[in-house]
Amino acid sequence: MLVIGSGYGGAVAALRLTQAGIQTHIVEMGQSWTTPGSDGKVFCDMLNPDGRSFWLKTKTDQPVGYFLGIPVNKTIPKYTGVLDTESFGAIRVYQGRGVGGGSLVNGGMAVTPRRSYFEEVLPSVDSDEMYSKYFPRANAALGVNNIDPAWFETADCYQFARVSRMRAHNAGFATTFVPNVYDFDYMRREAAQEVPRSALASEVIYGNNHGKKSLDKTYLAAAAATGRLRISTLHMVTSVAPASGGGYAVEIRQLDTSGSTVANKTVTADRVFFAAGSVGTSKLLVSMRAQGKLPALPSAVGEGWGNNGNVMVARAGLDLTGALQSGMPALGIDNWADPAGPVFAEIAPFPAGSELWINLYLAITKNPNRARFTFNASTGKVDLSWTSGMAQPSIDAAKRVFDAINKKAGTVYRTDLFGGYKTWGDDLTYHPLGGCVLNQATDNYGRLPGYRGLYVVDGSLIPGSTGVNPFVTITALAERNIEEIISADLA
Ligand code: FAD
Repeated sequence: MLVIGSGYGGAVAALRLTQAGIQTHIVEMGQSWTTPGSDGKVFCDMLNPDGRSFWLKTKTDQPVGYFLGIPVNKTIPKYTGVLDTESFGAIRVYQGRGVGGGSLVNGGMAVTPRRSYFEEVLPSVDSDEMYSKYFPRANAALGVNNIDPAWFETADCYQFARVSRMRAHNAGFATTFVPNVYDFDYMRREAAQEVPRSALASEVIYGNNHGKKSLDKTYLAAAAATGRLRISTLHMVTSVAPASGGGYAVEIRQLDTSGSTVANKTVTADRVFFAAGSVGTSKLLVSMRAQGKLPALPSAVGEGWGNNGNVMVARAGLDLTGALQSGMPALGIDNWADPAGPVFAEIAPFPAGSELWINLYLAITKNPNRARFTFNASTGKVDLSWTSGMAQPSIDAAKRVFDAINKKAGTVYRTDLFGGYKTWGDDLTYHPLGGCVLNQATDNYGRLPGYRGLYVVDGSLIPGSTGVNPFVTITALAERNIEEIISADLA
């Protein structure tokens, strides 16, 4: 069994396959983040990015790329770092690279979607089963925990969230606590200076040295404990095609930490699970179809990609947001019930280490626009048809919330963080979803039609939107699909 990628879909597949007694090989293009650098730390922090921050870039590409309109990105050595941004014309897609995929870099927000919206997005999935069995299973295995509300009210590191909550409530919006996979007990001890700081030391998008239950500590550790898991790191899958003697020939490029090719290898696998993430899986499948390696893949492969309606925005004002800010968000503004523009906005930290009076938000909106991946024969690359105007519905929805908050608070938008005089961070996403949509490009469990033994198990199955931060949905759906595949195809 071969699994391409070690993010949420790949980790779930690996655990359940190995527990079923099946030898499983994960091929992961990123590294295993276990060895400390010369500073004694595995990951660098947000304030001092070095090569460990970005995947094979010579300059950082931060989500907030400006301060007072001045670019803040820094030159870094080219290295197989943990965070990647892939640019497709109008959008930069942020993704994790390494054993654990996005779980290494993300904010840990672990949100089960509203049931009615899940049913709208994935109508072919039995939601009774999801909400009684697979969401609870995913939350338990991910190690999701809740913040102690009493501690939240007094913790210096959540001053930023409390003032944003106060401004949201004053304007008539509801807020809700958001569960996380970062251990809130650990964070409490960080605040009390009892343990080394991570979330409270500006660590988040380039990895956390402590406190976070990323997949390498949960699903993948449990899979490894079966003795049936092998992981090849710095190995990138470049091709999958039927092998002459049966099964699939998988071509792999082995990299060194500067991105150079060390070796090209071909292995044969009976079955291949695509878990390279929405972008990675879609790129591979669309290329294989165009190059005649998997010619029978349906036309729906490559379709239905969305950014989960992501848009970033910040407010300026005189509210003290605090010099010490936890890298892990704990609150969201919930205006999803507004039919004219549903919004779930995470109150995001700006952990710069000094008081900057910035209220930052990552809004998740119900943006209906979808893009398509296509293979470009002249460049040999895969393009994505997302254009800048496609973010407009997200901006319109977010404006309904933040115009009202600003009006009530007497505050204004910051226009210096996403470029000179640019209010909206509308050219980036943390939440790529779709490209190989369940029950359209695959059957109702992720099987690719026409190719027995090829499966998709990651965020590419979800049609562009979950209405909340997506990894719990990706994990629960993978739990559902792998259970069916093991019992129906592998028993
Ligand atoms: P991924 O987790 O992206 O895993 C795919 C893996 O495949 C990667 O490890 C990649 O290196 C590997 N790969 C890709 N191509 C190949 C190839 N050709 N060969 C071999 N390996 C390959 N979501 C939330 O729910 N809550 C949050 O708080 C949150 N915050 C985020 C913050 C940031 C900065 C980012 C970038 C994302 C955040 N997300 C969050 C999104 C979440 O991390 C993703 O939705 C999730 O990781 C997607 O899971 P996946 O299994 O589809 O793929």
